[in-house]
Amino acid sequence: MSITVPSTTPATPSPLTPSPLTPGRQALDSALFQLDQAADQLGLDDGLRTMLATPRRSLTVAVPVRREDGRMDVVQGFRVQHNITRGPAKGGIRFHPSTDLHEVTALAMWMTWKCALVGIPYGGAKGGVAVDPASLTPRELERVTRRYVNEILPIIGPEKDIPAPDVGTDEQTMAWIMDTYSVNAGYSVPGVVTGKPMTLGGSLGRAGATSRGVQISALRALPGSPEGRTVAVQGFGKVGAPAARYLADAGCRVVAVSDVTGAVVNLSGLDVDDLRAWVEETGGVYGYRHADALSHADLLELDVDILVPAALEGVITEENAPRIRARLIVEGANGPTTPGADRILADAGTTVVPDILANAGGVIVSYLEWVQNTQAYSWSAGEVEVKLRDLMEQSYDAVAALSAERGITLRQAAHVIGVGRVAEAHRLRGLYP
Ligand code: NAD
Repeated sequence: MSITVPSTTPATPSPLTPSPLTPGRQALDSALFQLDQAADQLGLDDGLRTMLATPRRSLTVAVPVRREDGRMDVVQGFRVQHNITRGPAKGGIRFHPSTDLHEVTALAMWMTWKCALVGIPYGGAKGGVAVDPASLTPRELERVTRRYVNEILPIIGPEKDIPAPDVGTDEQTMAWIMDTYSVNAGYSVPGVVTGKPMTLGGSLGRAGATSRGVQISALRALPGSPEGRTVAVQGFGKVGAPAARYLADAGCRVVAVSDVTGAVVNLSGLDVDDLRAWVEETGGVYGYRHADALSHADLLELDVDILVPAALEGVITEENAPRIRARLIVEGANGPTTPGADRILADAGTTVVPDILANAGGVIVSYLEWVQNTQAYSWSAGEVEVKLRDLMEQSYDAVAALSAERGITLRQAAHVIGVGRVAEAHRLRGLYP
């Protein structure tokens, strides 16, 4: 008997059945649409399509948190392991008020294709806690983190599923996760998370790795010299801020940046380090004195050479895509462009370096961190940089070659390679029992 699932609905119980079109549901629809397109290109049968559309394990947990005033709040947490056929599950943990099971599932699916695309031996996972970290004190944040980790403890581990930072989490979060897991195990287990502080087994080069990958793929995609090319960056966090720095280092002129507090523009070029110092001091780009204010929407539509969306999903849509003037879009964020927008951008001749390629630097160096942890050994920054660059450039070139050969977009080519490798692994392993 073959199981068929409509392309927009994964075969999972109630939490994933159709529901209002939340941002998370839209992200999952985008991920399933991209999978379907790749499956068509690969000629996959219905059974395998269904298997690849269906997360292997989805865990929803209640996370009670004691607030400083003695009240108790309960927030939802999730961990989805989309696929573990090529190796342990791997993916970040997001703390954001609007995260939900749909969003986490989409992000986990993209992780599966990303790891396969860049050739690292991992499956895909993602985690999320529906909480605004800015609304919590540091002690509350630590309690939320430790309780969430305790709830997902049975399914994570260095050989099972290895979390990392994502939106709203950082090295400190990873340190608490490593400690919570290790206390339960009875010994130190640094390989349970990546993106850790150096003192706890972090890797040199991990903090800037996603952004370094964004820079490498931007320079690969850019026709001609980067000198003087204008850049706008949406999101000035762990990915966006270093990406702006690295693109400026390569000779580009970063003219506009936004974060949750606002957007700023200076057509003569922003001093990225000075802007970062301002953000450190004030909490956001809003009010930066050496630039003019801009709306969030206008930043995306600036006439620039390179646009780097590095915030959240679904920001380039059918509605604003016709007004996007950037010649090259390099997706630091996961899922920033909807399939409808993709079509419009492709018709307009805009090159989009897709998320699963452009932001893969993070998981590549996470993999290198995990390898160092499992060997109790460490590499120099230079060694990590060379390995990252090699994998990024090889992956970019393979995607560009397939895109040219088949006349498909870079996103379609990246999915054909990623999905194809996972499908091949399924075929070789066979179906148990
Ligand atoms: P982060 O929390 O460090 O930064 C997010 C940034 O986006 C912040 O500056 C925030 O103010 C800004 N932002 C939020 N809403 C915004 C809006 N509406 N307009 C403009 N800016 C807004 O998160 P991050 O780790 O930098 O992740 C950003 C994106 O990159 C996410 O899509 C994430 O999944 C993806 N990503 C992250 C990594 C990583 O290593 N951290 C790796 C691969 C992909």
